[in-house]
Amino acid sequence: MTVSRDDRGKVTNALTIDVEDYFQVSALASHFPKDVWNTTPCRVERNVERILAILAERGARGTFFTLGWIAERYPALVRRIAAEGHELASHGYAHERASDQSPEAFLADIKLAKVVLEDVASCEVRGYRAPSFSVGLSNPWAHGCIEEAGYAYSSSVYPVKHDHYGVPDAPRFPYAVGAKLVEIPITTVRRFGRNWPVGGGGYFRLLPYPVSAWGIRKVNQEDRKPAIFYFHPWEIDPGQPVVREASAKARFRHYVNLAQTEARLQRLLQDFSWGRMDDVFLPAASQSV
Ligand SMILES: [Zn+2]
Repeated sequence: MTVSRDDRGKVTNALTIDVEDYFQVSALASHFPKDVWNTTPCRVERNVERILAILAERGARGTFFTLGWIAERYPALVRRIAAEGHELASHGYAHERASDQSPEAFLADIKLAKVVLEDVASCEVRGYRAPSFSVGLSNPWAHGCIEEAGYAYSSSVYPVKHDHYGVPDAPRFPYAVGAKLVEIPITTVRRFGRNWPVGGGGYFRLLPYPVSAWGIRKVNQEDRKPAIFYFHPWEIDPGQPVVREASAKARFRHYVNLAQTEARLQRLLQDFSWGRMDDVFLPAASQSV
């Protein structure tokens, strides 16, 4: 693939946001069954508005993997994401892990999400990211479902070793997983015989900023490839309610360094060039969006 660069000569990387609220995160989901979602005060709207403002200030574009449930509840917000030049993509309808579903239920969820998002925003939705990177060795049928649902790419495999997800030996860069479907994995660096995550999420909050910056630079300069970075709206929201009933491990992972994330994101946006997944990885085919 051709690596695109900005006018400063920097490689354009893909910035991605998984649009869900704090109570829909897998680690806290057991404390918020779906029948309380409608009555739980949401914070996602204000957090996404803040992200849109930050990206507008920096002139950066990104891809928003959005839940169908969010699109139904906040249609104006979802339309605004698309209107401001970002790519609207799918994070499924109800944030069910692919690995917890039957193939039939999974297919129904990702088809529904695509229809809802496309109806709300009046644009084609081509990308899908599974909740918690839950496509892996336990569900080899999942990519077939994603292709059948009409998506052009998936970003659902994290080639790392982690207790909740990951395929440590999966390819580190985009690869075909069907006749027309490509898997675009989250960024890792290869060191000491294994892959290390440098593409965002909890690691971005836990580890000092220079670790992520070093990793992204390695991928751009040594591998000569674009990186993919991801974060969530709730990660820039230190004022969100604390779920005290969650386990100590879940609480640590969810709340560590929330107050520092926005400043780190600003550094990330300043230090690197950022674009949409379709523009970075599917440039020839992205004209129809
Ligand atoms: Zn998610």
